[in-house]
Amino acid sequence: MKILVINCGSSSLKYQLIDMNNESVLTKGLVERIGIDGAKLEQKTPGKEKYIVETEMKDHKKAIELVFTALTDEKFGAVKSLDEIGAIGHRVVHGGEKITESTLVDEEVKSIIEDCFVFAPLHNPANLLGIKACEEIAPGKPNVAVFDTAFHQTMPASNYMYAIPYEYYEKYGLRKYGFHGTSHNFITNRMAEILKKEKSEINIVTLHLGNGSSLAAIKSGKCYDTTMGLTTLEGLVMGTRSGDLDATVVTFLQEKENLSPAEINNILNKKSGVLGVSQLSSDFRDLENAANEGNKQAQLALDMFVGRVKKYLGAYMAQLGRVDAIVFTGGIGENSKTMRADIVAGMEELGLVLDIKKNDMRGEEALISTDESKIKIYVVPTNEELMIARDTLRFL
Ligand code: AMP
Repeated sequence: MKILVINCGSSSLKYQLIDMNNESVLTKGLVERIGIDGAKLEQKTPGKEKYIVETEMKDHKKAIELVFTALTDEKFGAVKSLDEIGAIGHRVVHGGEKITESTLVDEEVKSIIEDCFVFAPLHNPANLLGIKACEEIAPGKPNVAVFDTAFHQTMPASNYMYAIPYEYYEKYGLRKYGFHGTSHNFITNRMAEILKKEKSEINIVTLHLGNGSSLAAIKSGKCYDTTMGLTTLEGLVMGTRSGDLDATVVTFLQEKENLSPAEINNILNKKSGVLGVSQLSSDFRDLENAANEGNKQAQLALDMFVGRVKKYLGAYMAQLGRVDAIVFTGGIGENSKTMRADIVAGMEELGLVLDIKKNDMRGEEALISTDESKIKIYVVPTNEELMIARDTLRFL
Protein backbone atom coordinates (compact mmCIF):
# COMPACT_ATOMS: atom_id res chain seq x y z
CA MET A 1 0.00 0.00 0.00
CA LYS A 2 1.35 3.43 -0.98
CA ILE A 3 0.32 6.58 0.85
CA LEU A 4 0.87 10.13 -0.36
CA VAL A 5 1.56 12.65 2.43
CA ILE A 6 0.88 16.31 1.67
CA ASN A 7 1.87 19.31 3.78
CA CYS A 8 0.49 22.50 2.22
CA GLY A 9 1.79 25.89 3.30
CA SER A 10 0.47 29.24 2.10
CA SER A 11 2.80 29.31 -0.92
CA SER A 12 4.60 25.99 -0.64
CA LEU A 13 3.79 22.30 -0.62
CA LYS A 14 5.90 19.40 0.64
CA TYR A 15 5.06 15.82 -0.27
CA GLN A 16 6.28 12.28 0.25
CA LEU A 17 5.11 9.01 -1.23
CA ILE A 18 5.60 6.23 1.31
CA ASP A 19 5.44 2.48 0.73
CA MET A 20 3.73 1.22 3.87
CA ASN A 21 4.91 -2.36 3.35
CA ASN A 22 8.35 -1.33 4.61
CA GLU A 23 7.73 2.35 5.44
CA SER A 24 10.29 3.45 2.83
CA VAL A 25 10.13 6.81 1.05
CA LEU A 26 9.51 6.18 -2.65
CA THR A 27 9.89 9.83 -3.60
CA LYS A 28 9.70 13.25 -2.02
CA GLY A 29 9.30 16.74 -3.33
CA LEU A 30 8.81 20.41 -2.65
CA VAL A 31 6.78 22.99 -4.55
CA GLU A 32 7.64 26.62 -3.83
CA ARG A 33 6.24 30.02 -4.75
CA ILE A 34 2.69 28.84 -5.50
CA GLY A 35 0.75 31.86 -6.76
CA ILE A 36 3.97 33.89 -7.06
CA ASP A 37 6.36 34.44 -10.00
CA GLY A 38 9.13 31.87 -10.25
CA ALA A 39 7.17 28.80 -9.04
CA LYS A 40 9.14 25.57 -8.99
CA LEU A 41 8.65 21.86 -8.25
CA GLU A 42 11.61 19.72 -7.21
CA GLN A 43 11.26 15.98 -6.73
CA LYS A 44 13.87 13.41 -5.75
CA THR A 45 13.24 9.74 -6.25
CA PRO A 46 15.98 7.48 -4.81
CA GLY A 47 18.23 6.17 -7.59
CA LYS A 48 16.95 8.74 -10.09
CA GLU A 49 18.02 12.22 -11.08
CA LYS A 50 16.37 15.23 -9.48
CA TYR A 51 13.25 16.32 -11.37
CA ILE A 52 12.74 20.08 -11.62
CA VAL A 53 9.76 21.85 -13.19
CA GLU A 54 9.66 25.63 -13.40
CA THR A 55 6.28 26.82 -14.57
CA GLU A 56 3.47 29.15 -13.58
CA MET A 57 1.31 27.80 -10.70
CA LYS A 58 -1.55 30.11 -10.07
CA ASP A 59 -2.97 28.12 -7.17
CA HIS A 60 -2.70 24.95 -5.04
CA LYS A 61 -4.85 22.99 -7.51
CA LYS A 62 -2.33 23.60 -10.28
CA ALA A 63 0.51 22.67 -7.89
CA ILE A 64 -1.16 19.38 -6.96
CA GLU A 65 -1.83 18.58 -10.62
CA LEU A 66 1.91 18.98 -11.21
CA VAL A 67 2.72 16.80 -8.18
CA PHE A 68 0.54 14.00 -9.58
CA THR A 69 2.23 14.37 -12.99
CA ALA A 70 5.68 14.25 -11.33
CA LEU A 71 4.75 11.16 -9.27
CA THR A 72 3.77 9.26 -12.40
CA ASP A 73 6.53 10.62 -14.69
CA GLU A 74 8.06 7.71 -16.59
CA LYS A 75 11.67 8.83 -16.10
CA PHE A 76 11.65 10.60 -12.73
CA GLY A 77 8.49 9.36 -11.01
CA ALA A 78 7.82 6.59 -8.49
CA VAL A 79 4.55 5.01 -9.67
CA LYS A 80 3.10 4.02 -13.04
CA SER A 81 -0.37 5.31 -12.26
CA LEU A 82 -2.23 7.11 -9.49
CA ASP A 83 -4.23 3.91 -8.91
CA GLU A 84 -1.20 2.63 -6.97
CA ILE A 85 -1.77 5.33 -4.32
CA GLY A 86 -4.23 4.06 -1.73
CA ALA A 87 -4.93 7.28 0.13
CA ILE A 88 -3.70 10.80 0.80
CA GLY A 89 -2.76 12.03 4.28
CA HIS A 90 -2.87 15.78 4.84
CA ARG A 91 -1.14 17.71 7.59
CA VAL A 92 -3.63 20.17 9.08
CA VAL A 93 -2.42 22.60 11.70
CA HIS A 94 -5.49 23.47 13.77
CA GLY A 95 -8.48 21.26 14.54
CA GLY A 96 -9.85 23.16 17.53
CA GLU A 97 -11.64 21.27 20.30
CA LYS A 98 -13.79 19.02 18.14
CA ILE A 99 -10.91 17.09 16.61
CA THR A 100 -9.23 14.66 18.98
CA GLU A 101 -7.65 12.32 16.44
CA SER A 102 -6.85 11.91 12.76
CA THR A 103 -9.96 11.66 10.67
CA LEU A 104 -11.30 10.83 7.22
CA VAL A 105 -12.18 14.08 5.44
CA ASP A 106 -15.88 14.78 4.90
CA GLU A 107 -17.94 17.97 4.68
CA GLU A 108 -18.07 18.33 8.48
CA VAL A 109 -14.28 17.98 8.85
CA LYS A 110 -13.76 20.59 6.14
CA SER A 111 -16.07 22.99 7.93
CA ILE A 112 -14.19 22.44 11.24
CA ILE A 113 -10.89 23.22 9.46
CA GLU A 114 -12.53 26.39 8.15
CA ASP A 115 -13.84 27.34 11.60
CA CYS A 116 -10.22 27.26 12.83
CA PHE A 117 -8.93 29.68 10.13
CA VAL A 118 -9.08 32.42 12.75
CA PHE A 119 -6.49 30.65 14.96
CA ALA A 120 -4.16 29.50 12.15
CA PRO A 121 -4.64 32.08 9.39
CA LEU A 122 -1.46 31.16 7.53
CA HIS A 123 -1.82 27.39 7.65
CA ASN A 124 -5.42 26.17 7.83
CA PRO A 125 -6.62 27.89 4.61
CA ALA A 126 -3.68 26.37 2.70
CA ASN A 127 -4.30 22.94 4.29
CA LEU A 128 -7.94 23.06 3.17
CA LEU A 129 -6.99 24.18 -0.36
CA GLY A 130 -4.73 21.13 -0.61
CA ILE A 131 -7.52 18.79 0.49
CA LYS A 132 -10.03 20.32 -1.93
CA ALA A 133 -7.56 20.15 -4.82
CA CYS A 134 -6.96 16.43 -4.16
CA GLU A 135 -10.70 15.78 -4.01
CA GLU A 136 -11.12 17.45 -7.41
CA ILE A 137 -8.13 15.97 -9.18
CA ALA A 138 -8.30 12.46 -7.71
CA PRO A 139 -11.99 11.91 -6.95
CA GLY A 140 -12.79 8.87 -4.86
CA LYS A 141 -9.36 8.63 -3.27
CA PRO A 142 -9.66 8.76 0.54
CA ASN A 143 -8.25 11.93 2.12
CA VAL A 144 -7.27 11.77 5.79
CA ALA A 145 -6.58 14.88 7.87
CA VAL A 146 -3.90 14.60 10.56
CA PHE A 147 -4.01 17.54 12.96
CA ASP A 148 -1.13 19.18 14.87
CA THR A 149 -3.50 19.92 17.74
CA ALA A 150 -5.21 16.50 18.07
CA PHE A 151 -2.60 14.77 20.26
CA HIS A 152 -2.87 17.54 22.86
CA GLN A 153 -6.62 17.20 23.35
CA THR A 154 -6.03 14.95 26.39
CA MET A 155 -4.73 17.91 28.46
CA PRO A 156 -6.80 18.58 31.58
CA ALA A 157 -8.73 21.87 31.65
CA SER A 158 -6.51 23.09 34.48
CA ASN A 159 -3.60 23.05 32.01
CA TYR A 160 -5.33 24.30 28.87
CA MET A 161 -7.44 27.17 30.27
CA TYR A 162 -6.18 30.75 30.36
CA ALA A 163 -6.99 32.62 33.57
CA ILE A 164 -9.16 35.23 31.84
CA PRO A 165 -12.96 35.61 32.16
CA TYR A 166 -14.54 32.22 31.38
CA GLU A 167 -16.94 33.79 28.90
CA TYR A 168 -14.09 34.26 26.37
CA TYR A 169 -13.48 30.51 26.37
CA GLU A 170 -17.20 29.90 25.84
CA LYS A 171 -17.58 32.64 23.23
CA TYR A 172 -14.41 32.22 21.18
CA GLY A 173 -12.76 28.97 22.28
CA LEU A 174 -9.78 30.89 23.66
CA ARG A 175 -7.61 28.23 25.32
CA LYS A 176 -4.32 26.41 24.89
CA TYR A 177 -4.45 23.88 22.02
CA GLY A 178 -0.79 22.97 21.51
CA PHE A 179 0.99 22.11 18.25
CA HIS A 180 3.65 19.75 16.84
CA GLY A 181 1.25 17.03 18.06
CA THR A 182 2.20 14.67 15.23
CA SER A 183 5.84 14.88 16.27
CA HIS A 184 5.18 14.51 20.04
CA ASN A 185 2.91 11.54 19.20
CA PHE A 186 5.55 9.90 16.98
CA ILE A 187 8.19 10.28 19.71
CA THR A 188 5.83 8.93 22.39
CA ASN A 189 5.10 5.82 20.30
CA ARG A 190 8.79 5.28 19.60
CA MET A 191 9.71 5.76 23.27
CA ALA A 192 7.23 3.06 24.32
CA GLU A 193 9.08 0.73 21.94
CA ILE A 194 12.53 1.83 23.15
CA LEU A 195 11.60 1.54 26.83
CA LYS A 196 9.81 -1.77 26.11
CA LYS A 197 6.69 -0.67 27.96
CA GLU A 198 3.05 -0.15 27.14
CA LYS A 199 2.42 3.41 26.00
CA SER A 200 0.03 3.82 28.94
CA GLU A 201 2.92 3.09 31.34
CA ILE A 202 5.35 5.79 30.24
CA ASN A 203 5.92 9.28 31.62
CA ILE A 204 8.25 11.33 29.44
CA VAL A 205 9.07 14.90 28.47
CA THR A 206 9.40 15.40 24.70
CA LEU A 207 11.50 18.37 23.55
CA HIS A 208 10.75 19.27 19.92
CA LEU A 209 13.36 21.96 19.27
CA GLY A 210 13.53 23.41 15.77
CA ASN A 211 12.69 26.66 14.07
CA GLY A 212 9.43 26.36 15.99
CA SER A 213 9.87 24.66 19.36
CA SER A 214 7.64 23.06 21.96
CA LEU A 215 7.88 20.75 24.95
CA ALA A 216 5.22 18.28 26.00
CA ALA A 217 4.70 16.50 29.30
CA ILE A 218 3.46 13.00 28.49
CA LYS A 219 1.71 11.27 31.39
CA SER A 220 0.73 7.61 30.96
CA GLY A 221 1.36 7.97 27.20
CA LYS A 222 -0.97 10.95 26.80
CA CYS A 223 -0.32 14.66 26.54
CA TYR A 224 -0.73 16.29 29.95
CA ASP A 225 0.69 19.73 29.13
CA THR A 226 2.50 21.48 26.31
CA THR A 227 4.17 24.84 25.81
CA MET A 228 2.43 26.18 22.69
CA GLY A 229 -1.00 27.72 23.20
CA LEU A 230 -3.93 29.11 21.28
CA THR A 231 -1.44 29.57 18.45
CA THR A 232 2.16 28.54 17.86
CA LEU A 233 3.42 31.73 19.53
CA GLU A 234 3.30 30.71 23.20
CA GLY A 235 5.98 28.99 25.23
CA LEU A 236 9.63 28.71 24.29
CA VAL A 237 11.85 31.37 22.72
CA MET A 238 11.93 30.27 19.06
CA GLY A 239 13.70 31.15 15.82
CA THR A 240 11.55 34.20 15.14
CA ARG A 241 8.75 33.88 17.75
CA SER A 242 8.88 35.52 21.17
CA GLY A 243 7.25 32.73 23.17
CA ASP A 244 5.86 33.71 26.60
CA LEU A 245 5.75 37.37 27.55
CA ASP A 246 3.77 39.68 29.79
CA ALA A 247 0.69 40.54 27.68
CA THR A 248 1.18 44.19 28.65
CA VAL A 249 4.24 44.27 26.36
CA VAL A 250 1.79 43.83 23.47
CA THR A 251 -0.60 46.63 24.44
CA PHE A 252 2.32 48.93 25.36
CA LEU A 253 3.98 48.46 21.96
CA GLN A 254 0.70 48.83 20.11
CA GLU A 255 0.12 52.14 21.80
CA LYS A 256 3.66 53.55 21.64
CA GLU A 257 4.43 52.41 18.09
CA ASN A 258 0.88 52.86 16.79
CA LEU A 259 0.71 49.24 15.60
CA SER A 260 -2.32 47.41 14.25
CA PRO A 261 -3.10 43.87 15.55
CA ALA A 262 -1.68 42.45 12.29
CA GLU A 263 1.54 44.45 12.70
CA ILE A 264 2.15 43.41 16.31
CA ASN A 265 1.38 39.79 15.35
CA ASN A 266 3.96 40.04 12.61
CA ILE A 267 6.59 41.40 15.02
CA LEU A 268 5.97 38.70 17.63
CA ASN A 269 5.85 35.85 15.11
CA LYS A 270 8.40 36.85 12.49
CA LYS A 271 10.82 39.36 14.01
CA SER A 272 11.27 38.17 17.59
CA GLY A 273 12.78 35.10 19.21
CA VAL A 274 16.51 34.48 18.84
CA LEU A 275 16.45 36.53 15.61
CA GLY A 276 15.03 39.57 17.37
CA VAL A 277 17.41 39.37 20.34
CA SER A 278 20.57 38.55 18.37
CA GLN A 279 19.72 40.92 15.47
CA LEU A 280 21.67 38.37 13.48
CA SER A 281 19.91 35.13 12.54
CA SER A 282 17.15 32.69 13.46
CA ASP A 283 19.43 29.78 12.56
CA PHE A 284 21.10 28.15 15.55
CA ARG A 285 24.20 27.22 13.54
CA ASP A 286 24.82 30.91 12.79
CA LEU A 287 24.18 31.84 16.42
CA GLU A 288 26.47 29.16 17.85
CA ASN A 289 29.25 30.23 15.47
CA ALA A 290 28.77 33.93 16.26
CA ALA A 291 28.66 33.28 20.01
CA ASN A 292 31.91 31.28 19.77
CA GLU A 293 33.48 34.31 18.08
CA GLY A 294 32.39 36.53 20.97
CA ASN A 295 29.10 38.00 19.71
CA LYS A 296 27.34 38.91 22.98
CA GLN A 297 23.83 39.28 21.56
CA ALA A 298 24.05 35.86 19.88
CA GLN A 299 25.14 34.39 23.22
CA LEU A 300 22.31 36.19 25.02
CA ALA A 301 19.75 34.81 22.53
CA LEU A 302 21.08 31.27 23.03
CA ASP A 303 21.10 31.69 26.82
CA MET A 304 17.47 32.86 26.71
CA PHE A 305 16.48 29.89 24.56
CA VAL A 306 18.25 27.43 26.90
CA GLY A 307 16.86 29.12 30.01
CA ARG A 308 13.26 28.92 28.82
CA VAL A 309 13.60 25.25 27.80
CA LYS A 310 15.14 24.43 31.19
CA LYS A 311 12.35 26.25 33.01
CA TYR A 312 9.63 24.23 31.26
CA LEU A 313 11.60 21.00 31.54
CA GLY A 314 11.78 21.48 35.31
CA ALA A 315 8.11 22.42 35.46
CA TYR A 316 7.08 19.34 33.51
CA MET A 317 9.25 17.06 35.66
CA ALA A 318 7.44 18.52 38.68
CA GLN A 319 4.04 18.01 37.01
CA LEU A 320 4.78 14.40 36.10
CA GLY A 321 6.35 13.40 39.42
CA ARG A 322 7.94 10.28 37.93
CA VAL A 323 9.82 10.70 34.65
CA ASP A 324 11.19 7.71 32.71
CA ALA A 325 12.99 9.70 30.03
CA ILE A 326 13.38 13.04 28.34
CA VAL A 327 13.71 13.05 24.55
CA PHE A 328 15.32 15.60 22.22
CA THR A 329 14.03 15.92 18.66
CA GLY A 330 13.64 18.52 15.86
CA GLY A 331 16.46 20.24 13.92
CA ILE A 332 18.14 21.61 17.05
CA GLY A 333 17.31 18.71 19.38
CA GLU A 334 18.66 16.16 16.92
CA ASN A 335 21.71 18.10 15.76
CA SER A 336 23.05 20.48 18.40
CA LYS A 337 25.10 18.74 21.09
CA THR A 338 25.82 22.16 22.63
CA MET A 339 22.15 23.05 23.11
CA ARG A 340 21.38 19.58 24.52
CA ALA A 341 24.29 19.83 26.96
CA ASP A 342 23.39 23.37 28.04
CA ILE A 343 19.74 22.45 28.62
CA VAL A 344 20.45 19.58 31.02
CA ALA A 345 23.54 21.18 32.63
CA GLY A 346 23.27 21.34 36.41
CA MET A 347 20.25 19.03 36.58
CA GLU A 348 22.23 16.05 37.91
CA GLU A 349 20.63 16.30 41.36
CA LEU A 350 17.25 16.14 39.63
CA GLY A 351 18.19 12.86 37.95
CA LEU A 352 19.51 14.00 34.56
CA VAL A 353 23.17 13.08 33.96
CA LEU A 354 24.45 13.57 30.41
CA ASP A 355 27.21 11.35 29.00
CA ILE A 356 29.42 13.88 27.18
CA LYS A 357 30.84 11.22 24.83
CA LYS A 358 27.49 9.72 23.90
CA ASN A 359 26.12 13.24 23.35
CA ASP A 360 28.86 13.88 20.78
CA MET A 361 26.78 12.90 17.73
CA ARG A 362 23.97 14.24 15.60
CA GLY A 363 20.95 13.12 13.64
CA GLU A 364 20.65 9.60 15.05
CA GLU A 365 18.59 7.77 17.61
CA ALA A 366 20.72 7.44 20.75
CA LEU A 367 20.72 7.14 24.52
CA ILE A 368 22.92 10.01 25.67
CA SER A 369 22.70 9.76 29.49
CA THR A 370 25.14 7.88 31.73
CA ASP A 371 24.24 4.47 33.17
CA GLU A 372 23.79 6.18 36.58
CA SER A 373 21.34 8.79 35.30
CA LYS A 374 18.03 8.19 37.09
CA ILE A 375 16.11 9.66 34.17
CA LYS A 376 17.26 8.52 30.72
CA ILE A 377 18.08 11.14 28.10
CA TYR A 378 17.46 10.24 24.45
CA VAL A 379 17.76 11.74 21.00
CA VAL A 380 15.07 10.41 18.64
CA PRO A 381 14.76 11.91 15.13
CA THR A 382 11.16 12.81 14.48
CA ASN A 383 9.28 11.73 11.37
CA GLU A 384 6.00 13.60 11.02
CA GLU A 385 5.41 12.39 7.44
CA LEU A 386 5.64 8.75 8.52
CA MET A 387 3.29 9.42 11.44
CA ILE A 388 0.77 10.99 9.01
CA ALA A 389 1.13 8.00 6.65
CA ARG A 390 0.62 5.54 9.53
CA ASP A 391 -2.49 7.37 10.70
CA THR A 392 -3.81 7.49 7.12
CA LEU A 393 -3.27 3.76 6.65
CA ARG A 394 -5.55 3.07 9.63
CA PHE A 395 -8.53 4.30 7.59
CA LEU A 396 -8.03 1.85 4.71
P1 AMP B 1 13.54 22.34 12.08
O1 AMP B 1 12.57 23.46 12.14
O2 AMP B 1 13.15 21.18 12.98
O3 AMP B 1 13.87 21.89 10.68
O4 AMP B 1 14.92 22.88 12.70
C1 AMP B 1 15.61 23.95 12.13
C2 AMP B 1 16.64 24.45 13.12
O5 AMP B 1 17.59 23.41 13.40
C3 AMP B 1 17.45 25.65 12.61
O6 AMP B 1 17.47 26.67 13.57
C4 AMP B 1 18.83 25.07 12.43
O7 AMP B 1 19.80 26.01 12.67
C5 AMP B 1 18.88 23.99 13.49
N1 AMP B 1 19.99 23.08 13.20
C6 AMP B 1 20.10 22.20 12.19
N2 AMP B 1 21.32 21.60 12.24
C7 AMP B 1 21.98 22.11 13.31
C8 AMP B 1 23.27 21.91 13.90
N3 AMP B 1 24.14 21.04 13.38
N4 AMP B 1 23.60 22.64 14.99
C9 AMP B 1 22.75 23.53 15.50
N5 AMP B 1 21.52 23.75 15.00
C10 AMP B 1 21.13 23.07 13.92
